[in-house]
Amino acid sequence: MSWSARLVLVVNSGSSSLKFTVLPCDGGEALVSGLAERLGSPEARLVLKRNGDKTVVDVPDADHSVALYRIFAHLDGDGLLDRIGAVGHRVVHGGERFSESVRLDEAVIADIEAVSALAPLHNPANLVGIRACLAALPEVPQIAVFDTAFHQTMPPAAWAYAVPDAWRRDHGVRRYGFHGTSHRHVSAEAARVLGLPAEDHGLVVAHLGNGASATAILNGRSVDTTMGLTPLEGLVMGTRSGDIDVGVVTHVAAVTGKSLAEIETILNKESGLLGLSGLSNDCRTLEAAAAEGHAGAELALEVFVHRLARHIGGLATSLPRLDALVFTGGIGENSARIRAMTLARLRVFGFELDAEANAATFGGRLGRISRGAGPVALVVPTDEEGLIARDAVRLAGFSDGGDDALAAAQ
Ligand code: AMP
Repeated sequence: MSWSARLVLVVNSGSSSLKFTVLPCDGGEALVSGLAERLGSPEARLVLKRNGDKTVVDVPDADHSVALYRIFAHLDGDGLLDRIGAVGHRVVHGGERFSESVRLDEAVIADIEAVSALAPLHNPANLVGIRACLAALPEVPQIAVFDTAFHQTMPPAAWAYAVPDAWRRDHGVRRYGFHGTSHRHVSAEAARVLGLPAEDHGLVVAHLGNGASATAILNGRSVDTTMGLTPLEGLVMGTRSGDIDVGVVTHVAAVTGKSLAEIETILNKESGLLGLSGLSNDCRTLEAAAAEGHAGAELALEVFVHRLARHIGGLATSLPRLDALVFTGGIGENSARIRAMTLARLRVFGFELDAEANAATFGGRLGRISRGAGPVALVVPTDEEGLIARDAVRLAGFSDGGDDALAAAQ
């Protein structure tokens, strides 16, 4: 089989869910995608999407392995399973060990386990999916793509917390950053579209979704980012608080008697846009409510934008020049209102909004939303799965050597 007929499977395994997409190795649209959710419970189910059709199958009490076998049975039925030539796995935390994507073997799995203390909810869940896929497809090259890897180029001034150095040496306490695949893809795409010289450009990418982070990117390399040891630091998010005075934590613990773990859960799951508005974590809902005068929704959007603009300003100080601010993620790609509010707060940089272009840019469109001589504001749709697929195909050896590479890899 020629490599261009081969497929790549992208897997994102969470603690009780597993998302997957099957894409052609040489690019193009997904052939099948789906989600196994509520795994380990009687309500476990599999949602499959192909050719615009959605099928829902109950798989009571299925765990990750059972769900994968059911997914593979469907792929087999469609004649797709034998064509899978590579598997790309999203892994949340690579610590300091991984600065790029890597082919999985026992040593790499041991290293991912070793950094699991830094992401106790995510890495073990990622590993469950990895192990199940390795067991089911032992002959197929499998590749790990890390959310943190892109940010390993940050200088110490950007990644160090001002805390006793022993915390870093002994426990890995430093800033790592996340959303690396999105920032990597979107910044490369922005530089390409704007025709910026590879070794002479500066960008800030704002990935604004339910999770949100912004990154300063100098000549294609991350030099500062808003998330830290965990994804909790930085911008206001759907349900995460972002930056917060640790004094808040100790004060709330003292006055409410809540444990650290309880407060951490509240800061991750009940704060952000949801906590501020008392209504929703969803930007669309908040925009609609604010338009009808809901004060909490209005405040949530204002705080979101204030924090975002403040961080973009700070990130720009890591660049010699700001060529462009790039919006991506569900909010960044679709919310003309948030983008307009953000640029209005960034007057000091000389942004001039093109209101018409801004209003017309949503739903996966790529486009410039600024005009004039100041820095460019651009919307670039993110494609984390596409980038994971491309890394998997490249590291499996299929991307540029055609059939020879395939034969050599087998
Ligand atoms: P993500 O996590 O990247 O899927 O992004 C989810 C966020 O994008 C949610 O807050 C959505 O409300 C927001 N979003 C999606 N479409 C729109 C839209 N048309 N206008 C405003 N926010 C949107």
